[in-house]
Amino acid sequence: MAKNIGIDIGGTNLRIGVFEGLRLIDESRIRADFSQICKGNSPEVAWQRILTMIVDALNPIVKSDSDIEAIGIGFPGFINPVSKEIAQSPNLPGLKDVNLQQDLSRMINKRVVVENDANTAAYGEYHLLNKPDSGLIYLGLGTGVGSGLVLNQKLVVGEHGCAMEAGHIIVMPNGRLCGCGNKGCVEQYASATGVSISYLDATQKKLPSSEIAKLALQGDKDALMAFEIAAETLAQALASIIKVVDVSEVVIGGGLHASWALMENTFMNRFNQDLMAVLRNKITITISTAQDNAGMLGAAMLASDSHP
Ligand SMILES: [Zn+2]
Repeated sequence: MAKNIGIDIGGTNLRIGVFEGLRLIDESRIRADFSQICKGNSPEVAWQRILTMIVDALNPIVKSDSDIEAIGIGFPGFINPVSKEIAQSPNLPGLKDVNLQQDLSRMINKRVVVENDANTAAYGEYHLLNKPDSGLIYLGLGTGVGSGLVLNQKLVVGEHGCAMEAGHIIVMPNGRLCGCGNKGCVEQYASATGVSISYLDATQKKLPSSEIAKLALQGDKDALMAFEIAAETLAQALASIIKVVDVSEVVIGGGLHASWALMENTFMNRFNQDLMAVLRNKITITISTAQDNAGMLGAAMLASDSHP
């Protein structure tokens, strides 16, 4: 049976999964400090080092299994939908207008598909949900808020590779300054980082969101409020998105989804309040059970779709 590889590239790890259909049959994880490589080298040198690391990790797998057809990669950055160049990567500073799809394909002699990592996660969740006729919105609450949209069985990437940048929907006019340059974006409130900032603002104490979650479970008012702000802002953004795309399925993933119980009530109240009456109770919110594998799976499925 044909196999495809799905790769998830993070700032510190490179995860490679071999998939037979939806089934993960082999996985390797390589420590690859791409962020550090980018910070410590010129963009040209950094790019060659990153490419070499990916090729060295892939070659033994590809050469030992002739059933492997193509490779899909979820990459943390904006991908130009036409040229497939990486337009910008906030986590891999300096890299710009490099073409991972083209360069890697040439080096390992296989078809390669590169897509934004939140989009591959959305596509993976779509396949796991197994409701092919439903559209799906994925919201990944991690360091930032990554998101993706599947409509009519296809990933929607937009004309500039920026469709469904839900994390940058402005929910607080003149709010916190965001990495994108605007103020008040939802990812400044509804991500793990956002929860930490809300808690810091209230207490002057800097804690990771996992510690704030523990305090919230013990009834700490400031910690509970930090999660309430996350829930309110996320609900606001999602209700607006639903009014534009009108899909029934929403999957919440990313590190912060472990604390969903702290957000759920506030989220559902605000979400239902902001939706139009005709849409209330028609949207299913599911918490991801993919344990970080959705990105690899979605990348492998995109590779599989690319068969001529
Ligand atoms: Zn922003």
